Amino acid sequence: MSPTPAWPSLAAEIRRCRLCAHHLPLGPRPIFAGSPTARIVIIGQAPGRRAHLAEIPFADASGDRLRQWLGLERAAFYDACRIAIMPMGFCYPGTGAGGDKLPNPICATTWHARMQAAMPRLELTLLVGGLAQRAYLASFDNVTDAVMASRNGEGARIALPHPSWHNNAWLKMHSWFEGEMLPPLRRRIAHLIGD
Ligand code: SF4
Repeated sequence: MSPTPAWPSLAAEIRRCRLCAHHLPLGPRPIFAGSPTARIVIIGQAPGRRAHLAEIPFADASGDRLRQWLGLERAAFYDACRIAIMPMGFCYPGTGAGGDKLPNPICATTWHARMQAAMPRLELTLLVGGLAQRAYLASFDNVTDAVMASRNGEGARIALPHPSWHNNAWLKMHSWFEGEMLPPLRRRIAHLIGD
């Protein structure tokens, strides 16, 4: 493997990526964020159509809910000097019968390790949804168990459910998530990013 380039050249290389362009209905438009000073990385699934069009990750109501969960205003959430955003697929993968399609695995295998190597100050990884959890946790069976295992808010990797309205029923059934798990996680995040 070639040595990890400095962040600006790596980011430029990612922006030029066309590796799975033939699978992307709206074409490549990698949406990610990061910097060598980032302390937290958020790993979700892939940008939705709205994020693709806006060229802004988590540009929808799910993003609003995620920011509320994490206790972050938009300015902090989108401050790449502090928070990196590195989905399992960087480009909008299109929509199928069951919602957004899964991203091509080649994206994460090509870019994730190089991005993380270029962000040496990362201390906390937030795994949003099952796809990221399956990729990054030592063992993964289902989202509920993964989030429960993160319940104390400690450790380098924290599992979160996807903030989509699809999970409203899950949130009602697992009120400990918002009532017990999020407050200490918010404090930890504020401490890490210096708020
Ligand atoms: S999804 Fe990832 S691998 Fe595919 S074109 Fe976009 S950046 Fe490249």
